[in-house]
Amino acid sequence: MEIALEAQGLGKRYGKTWALRDCSLHLPAGRIAALVGPNGAGKSTLLHLAVGLLRPDAGAVRIFGASPYDNPELLPEIGFVAQDTPLYRDFTAAELVDLGGRLNRRWDGALARNRLAQLGIPPNLRIGKLSGGQRAQVALALALAKRPRLLLLDEPVASLDPLARREFLQSLMGSVAESETTVLLSSHLLADLERVCDYLVVLNAARVQLAGSVDDLVAAHRQLVGPRHDGGPIGGVAEVVRASHTDRQSTLLVRTDGPVTDPAWTVREVGLEDVVLAYLADGASQTRHSEWGVPA
Ligand code: ADP
Repeated sequence: MEIALEAQGLGKRYGKTWALRDCSLHLPAGRIAALVGPNGAGKSTLLHLAVGLLRPDAGAVRIFGASPYDNPELLPEIGFVAQDTPLYRDFTAAELVDLGGRLNRRWDGALARNRLAQLGIPPNLRIGKLSGGQRAQVALALALAKRPRLLLLDEPVASLDPLARREFLQSLMGSVAESETTVLLSSHLLADLERVCDYLVVLNAARVQLAGSVDDLVAAHRQLVGPRHDGGPIGGVAEVVRASHTDRQSTLLVRTDGPVTDPAWTVREVGLEDVVLAYLADGASQTRHSEWGVPA
């Protein structure tokens, strides 16, 4: 399995504060991965490290096996759309496509022009006059025209209304489905990305809380409801991620390592959002990753 992005003990510090700490994860090539966590969790920092705009203070990040900071020749392989889709507002989309052709050795200008035409985005209007959704689409078209092997998008839908969010993500999925591109896109809202991603990385307070394939993560977690739990072991449960109690009853979100057969517990399947919220609420706990079929 080819690994698009690999971080090992990766950290970035501003003064005494770690913006990202002990980050270890493997993103297999070909995945559409969501990078989710509250504001300030370290998402932008991870993406900037991955594109080589920041130098790690600890550990390492590798893109297709090489450090992006030390290997600028990797840059053509990586498409990056920074937060708020910064574009030259006085240029038109058509001019930006031409400019990209002059700045990039490998450049598919026709792809960008066709995309913009399909989306009905006027090529000759200044970027500053386009809507937020249209600007986001121009930024995406430019990133795709690089034909990157890895596409990093920092909060691409944050400033868009719900309809524009959906359209943006649908068109992103449509275009990467035909290519081999690996995508890592961040949001502070899981709901934005849940439908489109097949891999998930959850960051909270500078640390990775959870990383793995969505199917594996969902399959490995259950909600248990039963008599008040005293903290003792439960057969089939590897870890209680989150517990809430009334006088008589406990509700547990657990990571399983086998079937839970004790009839005292009612076992329910959980959705991805339940899993993520449980790990975010338990943010002080240890980093967990690589336990769901991802190489450690
Ligand atoms: P996110 O993208 O998840 O909102 P960031 O990666 O932007 O989080 O920020 C992580 C932490 O690092 C935050 O506490 C933020 O204030 C801090 N940080 C980010 N960039 C800088 C910087 N240039 N100087 C100082 N602190 C920073």
